[in-house]
Amino acid sequence: MIPFNKPYCSGREMSYMAEVCHSMTMSGNGDYTKLCHGFFEKRYGFKKCLLCTSGTDALEMCAMLCELKPGDEVIVPSYTFVSSAIAFLREGAYVRFADSGKENPNITADIIRPLINEKTRAICVVHYAGVACDMDAIMQLAAEHNLIVVEDAAHSIDAYYKERPLGSIGHLSAFSFHETKNISCGEGGMIAINDERFIRRAEILWEKGTNRAEFYRGMVNKYGWCDMGSSFLPSELNAAFLWAQLEQIEDIQSKRLHIWNAYDKGLRGQTLADGIKVMPELPEYATNNAHMYYLLCPSLAVRTRFMNYLKNNGVQTTFHYLPLHSSTYYNDKHDGRVLAECDRYGETLVRLPLFYELTDEETEKIIKLIKKYK
Ligand SMILES: *Cc1c(COP(=O)(O)O)cnc(C)c1O
Repeated sequence: MIPFNKPYCSGREMSYMAEVCHSMTMSGNGDYTKLCHGFFEKRYGFKKCLLCTSGTDALEMCAMLCELKPGDEVIVPSYTFVSSAIAFLREGAYVRFADSGKENPNITADIIRPLINEKTRAICVVHYAGVACDMDAIMQLAAEHNLIVVEDAAHSIDAYYKERPLGSIGHLSAFSFHETKNISCGEGGMIAINDERFIRRAEILWEKGTNRAEFYRGMVNKYGWCDMGSSFLPSELNAAFLWAQLEQIEDIQSKRLHIWNAYDKGLRGQTLADGIKVMPELPEYATNNAHMYYLLCPSLAVRTRFMNYLKNNGVQTTFHYLPLHSSTYYNDKHDGRVLAECDRYGETLVRLPLFYELTDEETEKIIKLIKKYK
């Protein structure tokens, strides 16, 4: 069976982790954490980065920084992972779910605009499959209404919008290094803070509510409890693993792009049975970070049949998000609007295997099988 995903180890992960064990400083915010922060701040120009133990944690930090009050509202796509919504719900906000666009699962300024009311405080955008949302229009809309924009950049490492790295455009953004993402350390994440007014508080939340970061920099002579917080920072063991992956980012990305391009060359423009289509073309403002290659089926029944066909021929594929607005947890909290595009992606999207060690022969096999599907 060709699996849908297989985590990749570049080779140095184990030796860096062994070094951390021998150094006897295994808790967070050590040398490897600082190397990772520096990498992101330099390569992508994020103003301030803080590693977290997951993308979920990073989103929770973003939500805490929004300083939401009960009754405040946050606009979140329904076609996303639960964490994009839970982060804001935990802060007492109401989540108003937005439908996906017709072109791709991303939300757009036109979809967001009618959902804004006097209680709206923030917009969370998800760049689905690492394909940028149209950020100029969204940032302008947010500025008109004085809203904070959080980018859920969990899929979006090394992807760009009009030459600007994703995660550098919103006020705050969250990355994930879960094992299913391009760059991974098992479980891991990072918050990027682009608006300076949030930096000081972000450091305090990250340091469990204390001003320890300022103490370490010699700015205060003792540190203490000054705000809310939690233990958001990962151990040096995770940071060491992540650093080994970041050192290999060019190699990892070029391998993933190679596979993505092979799928696209083999499948785009072909007439596939049952009206199955390849993932939409990228908008002209977006680059491709090869996070995902997906197909769209015309119905749930076709998708089930198609996925079973691939499985019976030794290829594991997966569908993706179940719409959040109609989940058992949120169904009775949702405002009742029909989110038809989100439902469509929920029922028809299929993701193909895409991981570093997928060979050319395996990719060819998958393409051939898809073309032979009747
Ligand atoms: C993976 C993912 C997350 C959560 O990241 P974790 O690191 O698994 O906590 C959040 N949002 C989206 C869109 C994701 O794909």
